[in-house]
Amino acid sequence: MNIGVLGAGQLGRMLALAGYPLANRFTFLDTTGHPSAGIGDVMVYTDQHHLDDFLDKVDLVTYEFEHLPVALVQAIEELRPVYPSSEAIRICQNRAQEKALFDRLGIPTPAYRLVQSAEELEAATRELGAPVVAKSVTEGYDGKGQAVLRDPAEAVDAWRSINHPQLVVEAFVDFVREVSIIAVRGREGDVAFYPMAENLHVDGILRYSLAPMPDLDETVQQTADGYIRALLDELDYVGVLTLELFQTRDGQLLANEMAPRVHNSGHWTMDGAVTSQFENHLRAIQGLPLGDTSARMPTCMVNVIGQEGDAAAILAIEDAHLHRYDKSERPGRKLAHVNLLAPTHAELLEKVHACACLLPEAPEPRFSFEDS
Ligand code: AMP
Repeated sequence: MNIGVLGAGQLGRMLALAGYPLANRFTFLDTTGHPSAGIGDVMVYTDQHHLDDFLDKVDLVTYEFEHLPVALVQAIEELRPVYPSSEAIRICQNRAQEKALFDRLGIPTPAYRLVQSAEELEAATRELGAPVVAKSVTEGYDGKGQAVLRDPAEAVDAWRSINHPQLVVEAFVDFVREVSIIAVRGREGDVAFYPMAENLHVDGILRYSLAPMPDLDETVQQTADGYIRALLDELDYVGVLTLELFQTRDGQLLANEMAPRVHNSGHWTMDGAVTSQFENHLRAIQGLPLGDTSARMPTCMVNVIGQEGDAAAILAIEDAHLHRYDKSERPGRKLAHVNLLAPTHAELLEKVHACACLLPEAPEPRFSFEDS
């Protein structure tokens, strides 16, 4: 089976690494002009000619990047099976569409308004009550295209700085922690859920993901499973889907956003789960049985951002697994991640601190359950 992947970054690289044992071959189609997968057959899309070449080579198509022209994915869908479908991309590209879907399925979200001018932004900030977070409806990721308003008077500056014709304005959630649920749905509608992860972000960028959480109430996991199942079934989705949520002080979950693909907050599954998110995505899209999603041990993923750090020292930590993306160092760039495993959460935290000390730009790791 030759799998075509739209996008050619580190997620595609890790998909390929998971697919080689299944005798899959990979052809990547990059639309950004900056492919970094460094594996498989990488093509850069500029015209129809490249698309024809790509389609000649592949049996089915998936994607590792959702900021793709929807028309391109729809055109590919006419000629090859595409999993997940272009409908998932269309919705996930647009925060307004995403929120409408959450509303329709009864998945709670932070209170929000859609605005199309600085005046409307000011009015929405007053109505929702500052602080609020304003986000561009399209083209935002890793915290880009966003502003926090602490006062309605900041609306003109925020509108100018985001510089987008439509924004979603959300009440600022006083969350206990940010979490994500990752699930996979097969071609026959079979679904498997991973244990939820606690995610630490700094400046909108994920730095640490830890799963399973030691203090997670089983009913909270079940609630998240129900939310993501509703999304998977509604979209007749095939593959891995990620839903990011806020957990509030009263134990409620509020959906933030979803990603129609394997996700950085699921990298822990490469070493910490029986079947990784990457292998399960490939199993799903090929119509193979889904693998066991349970965790082997408490696991923490540490993102390596900007500078590589001392690889030998990281690998000297017991049960540390370094996954490098073969990219050059640049401020803010995701270069690698480390998965740390330990039999207890206390031992795991010691390893996380030891690992953070070896990474020049790693922020202080501080998880919500350390306070309890
Ligand atoms: P997003 O791009 O929507 O995932 O937002 C990036 C980060 O900004 C999130 O991971 C949160 O840390 C923070 N954030 C986004 N929306 C809210 C909100 N409504 N309340 C509080 N923090 C938020």
